[in-house]
Amino acid sequence: MKNLAFPSSVFSEARPFLVCGPCSAESEHQVMQTAYALSGLPVTLFRAGIWKPRTRPGAFEGVGAVGLQWLQRVKQETGLRTTVEVARGQHVELCLRHQIDVLWIGARSTANPFTVQEIADALRGTDIPVMVKNPINPDLNLWLGAIERLENAGIQKLIAIHRGFSSAERGGYRNKPMWELPIELKRLRPDLPIICDPSHICGKRDLIPRIAQQAMDLNFDGLMLEVHPEPDKALSDPAQQLTPNALTQLLQALVVREKGATGSMLRATLRELREIVDKHDEELILALKERMKVIEQIGLFKKENNIAVLQPERWKDIVETRTAWARELGLSDELILKIFQLIHQESIRQQTRIMNSRAQELRFPAS
Ligand code: PEP
Ligand code: MN
Repeated sequence: MKNLAFPSSVFSEARPFLVCGPCSAESEHQVMQTAYALSGLPVTLFRAGIWKPRTRPGAFEGVGAVGLQWLQRVKQETGLRTTVEVARGQHVELCLRHQIDVLWIGARSTANPFTVQEIADALRGTDIPVMVKNPINPDLNLWLGAIERLENAGIQKLIAIHRGFSSAERGGYRNKPMWELPIELKRLRPDLPIICDPSHICGKRDLIPRIAQQAMDLNFDGLMLEVHPEPDKALSDPAQQLTPNALTQLLQALVVREKGATGSMLRATLRELREIVDKHDEELILALKERMKVIEQIGLFKKENNIAVLQPERWKDIVETRTAWARELGLSDELILKIFQLIHQESIRQQTRIMNSRAQELRFPAS
């Protein structure tokens, strides 16, 4: 991973890479107390919000630039490196002036290309590492776009932070994890380290250990966790901050997985099993191809006889029978429903195309 090999000691190869500290810097005392409590733990970066993006005005909006001096003190006295959220070009300048080691872009800023561009312009000519949270809405292109704007400004040390996605659904999480998005980011940008922020995903501290473990199981490079000496008294995000003790317990219980199979025996076993999977996948694709051929024949038949493409009863029957067959085999309804929704959508698309094409353009099946 080229970007993990950062020359500064900021991004050591330590796994997991830990970014911990309060949601907000509230007072010099609270910042120093937290930093001293974290200094004995394998924490790489000390985080603290100085300028807080609040949903409603009137909430605590951060202490502002004075907090940067407290972070300088953290660095001098504990040796911890520091990171701050920036949302303006001016924030970037102030952080650089106060020797903040790493910057991060918050979820609301990532969602706004004007803001990201302003930050990128202020960063031009520096090589400070930047962490980019996912946008609040589940839009992978916005996330990628923010990373690209920073790269275009010459920033090379980048890390993505997965902090979950805002959703109208009222689930157990403050921000739905939607793991498929960071997984897709990993596929598209395998060079980019990615860490998980269980605090903002969960919104409640009792859910945090499970999400932190899931991030380790999914091969994330690190974790960002909010820590406060007295969480219930915190001026922002009180329900999701951990005490230093709770963080210690979480880290003790956390099982860090190997990045991949180590040793030739393990690699050989995994290869053999994967070859079997490859074979099954090939069969699945061949079966889909045969199914689509019949779908086309049915499409032609519907066109010739002026029958509507969508037949709701047939679709209802497909869902009921397929989920029942799958259930007998111990496969989940959800999986089968999702797969058949995709297959059915494609069948509808093909048959609609046939229905609307002129007869001479049609490819009649061999009789
Ligand atoms: C934060 O890290 O305190 C924060 C405001 O996070 P997010 O941008 O993920 O909401
Ligand atoms: Mn927070």
